[in-house]
Amino acid sequence: MVFQLLSEPKSTLQGLAHTLLRVSEEIDHCQQCRTYTEQPICPLCANPKRDSSVLCVVETPAEMLSLEQSGVFRGHYFILHGRLSPLDGVGPDALGIPVFLERLKNPLLQEIILATNPTVEGEATAYYLTELAMQYQKKISRIAYGVPVGSELEYIDGQTLSHAVLMRQEITGRQTP
Ligand SMILES: [Zn+2]
Repeated sequence: MVFQLLSEPKSTLQGLAHTLLRVSEEIDHCQQCRTYTEQPICPLCANPKRDSSVLCVVETPAEMLSLEQSGVFRGHYFILHGRLSPLDGVGPDALGIPVFLERLKNPLLQEIILATNPTVEGEATAYYLTELAMQYQKKISRIAYGVPVGSELEYIDGQTLSHAVLMRQEITGRQTP
């Protein structure tokens, strides 16, 4: 990357340096959801049309963006900027837990969706957040595990398949004669 940058004209490098400096000075975490923003509260948190009854917890701003682009979620977010990973020195303090607990005090909030990744660390983080959130008497849900749309069962790994079967959803109840 350094060699690629050095091959660019000096003016390009200076422009890039200026932009990086501006980003480091002006971009900070939103005080509510912890995404990157130039304002104290990001436009999404400030939008009165968002559903305040649901809070979706994700690991990164990129994952928040993916969910936004899917168009299915109209609630609010909370971004951890990581996941619990003791081996990498990432503990609860790095994940903005005090801000998260502050969000849970909102009486309008009814449901917390834990959308951390289905990895060992992501699962441990979801478990940890569940333990913390239980005292607030909110509905706590976890994103579904399952088979990717458009895939074939033959090629899905055993763990994903067993989750998909165990967490199946009812399409219709048994008809009583
Ligand atoms: Zn925000």
